[in-house]
Amino acid sequence: MRQVYLDYSATTPVKEDVLKEMIPYFTEKFGNPSSLYTIGAASREAIEKARGQVAKLIHAQEKEIFFTSTGTEADNWAVFGIVDALKNKGNHIITTKIEHHALLHTCDFLEKHGYDVTYLDVEPDGRVNPETLKAAITDKTILISIMFVNNEVGTIQPIKELAAIAKEHGIVFHTDAVQALGNVPIDVKDLGVDLMSVSSHKIYGPKGVGALYIRKGVQLSNFMHGGAQESKRRAGTENLPGIVGFGKAAELAYENLDAHIKKISELRDYFVDQVMSKIENVTLNGSKEFRHPGNANLTFEYIEGEAMLLYLDMRGIAVSTGSACSSASLVPSHVLSALGIPVERIHGSLRFTIGDPTTKEDLDYVVEELIEVVNKLRSISSVSQAKGW
Ligand SMILES: *Cc1c(COP(=O)(O)O)cnc(C)c1O
Repeated sequence: MRQVYLDYSATTPVKEDVLKEMIPYFTEKFGNPSSLYTIGAASREAIEKARGQVAKLIHAQEKEIFFTSTGTEADNWAVFGIVDALKNKGNHIITTKIEHHALLHTCDFLEKHGYDVTYLDVEPDGRVNPETLKAAITDKTILISIMFVNNEVGTIQPIKELAAIAKEHGIVFHTDAVQALGNVPIDVKDLGVDLMSVSSHKIYGPKGVGALYIRKGVQLSNFMHGGAQESKRRAGTENLPGIVGFGKAAELAYENLDAHIKKISELRDYFVDQVMSKIENVTLNGSKEFRHPGNANLTFEYIEGEAMLLYLDMRGIAVSTGSACSSASLVPSHVLSALGIPVERIHGSLRFTIGDPTTKEDLDYVVEELIEVVNKLRSISSVSQAKGW
């Protein structure tokens, strides 16, 4: 049976060239980067090379990149680091209703500890209206954190405009750019952001490594305490092979950015077109114009997304009902809810995300199988409705 993976926003496979680069750092080049002898120095050099590769992809200075264990840790560090550094200035944080749980649950935790958090509404296409942000700012606001690209519906935020509002008010601006990295051009200087979270495993690098961009001059307390790694900003022996892999993945993403965007957006448009022309009562959620090039979040009316997911899985097709975190529960997606989509339609929604290895033949296979699965489930659901089940 054909296997088609269409969940590249959940994670990506490690590229062959990335793996090749990593392997020696598990074995002969295993030195602790903090050690003073030669093999330690070689490890240090490898980390500095990777720092340069990641910096280049987002147009940052090397010194502004700090490696972490995950994108989640980078998000936690940004929030807790600002909350601590600016505790004398205020206790109010502004974020949105559509953030990743790495940000939302961190803010929930702070709310339980006496902080004020405003969760901004978004427009029906998933974009934050700059006026909504302006209206939420108070003299106690110390941090604005708005994700660059949403992981469920793929909406791209007007980050430059939102960061400019923060700057006007002297407020630190953080963005979770985990989904943006390698999928949209990023220039931190042009965007005017202070802090940015990224992760390796969403760009064909290994899992368990991320980074926080900290603009030079931004005051941020440490989150991990211990040794002097990462210029004394992030303690803990570095994930050497992971960082080397992240660096290589960032280099490849930089070299292939335009071609990658063109390729996956064409495939995505083809897929959406095929599905919508061959299956009735399907709608595309999120923005058409400001969208992750590989994201198709579709609602299939009158059916359960979970049932579709399982039927597609039996046919070798991997898709998602939303974010990986909520896929184990039946709580409707907080992102689709924030877009104003009614609960019954949310339950009929699936996220297809296309990546580098995806082919047109893969998508043709998925469309064929989708037609069968949708027909089958809709016939069951119309029978159950007719019988009043
Ligand atoms: C995947 C993801 C994260 C978490 O990154 P990890 O490295 O898996 O911890 C954070 N934010 C967004 C938008 C993501 O897609």
